[in-house]
Amino acid sequence: MVQHTLILIKPDAMQRGLTNEIIRRYKKAGLKVVKKRKMPAPLSIIEKHYPMDPEYLKSIGEKTIAAGQKVKSAEDQGRKVVTWLRKFITSGPIVAMVLEGENAVSLARKVTGFTDPATAEKGTIRGDLGTDNILDANREGRPVYNLIHASGSVPEAKKEIELWFEK
Ligand code: ADP
Ligand code: MG
Repeated sequence: MVQHTLILIKPDAMQRGLTNEIIRRYKKAGLKVVKKRKMPAPLSIIEKHYPMDPEYLKSIGEKTIAAGQKVKSAEDQGRKVVTWLRKFITSGPIVAMVLEGENAVSLARKVTGFTDPATAEKGTIRGDLGTDNILDANREGRPVYNLIHASGSVPEAKKEIELWFEK
């Protein structure tokens, strides 16, 4: 089924000048860029894009644990990470894009790779171009620099496209 998905080029990728290389990789996988906008990331959008939802916070904290750091509460750690993340994403311009294609949501996630560049598969954007890791990020009190956001599911994509590209 033809789907749409949202991609954000995060400030670390912008700073490294990786926008064109990232777009090239999605296109090579068969995805088409149907909307694209360079813009500051307003806090009002970012707060909805990265919500303080207990289940979501827990899943983020669990990635810290999986990377090898002990924490008292996954949810509390997730809340810290999202606070760092919101600050980071709003720190500079980003590029927001809508990609279109067959199974665009799962396909874009596959091309993007796992959250932690240290364990992201080779051949994925994060695996090939990412230089950071979750363990250092948590020690230094910042989100892991992994270059992009890609919607995680069809409902998430729908919500995020409305958020970033409402008329
Ligand atoms: P993804 O972007 O792979 O869908 P999440 O939605 O879980 O990942 O997290 C959103 C973003 O928050 C990630 O892309 C990453 O930048 C950051 N992040 C997630 N989990 C952690 C963590 N445990 N430690 C540091 N940063 C994290
Ligand atoms: Mg996500």
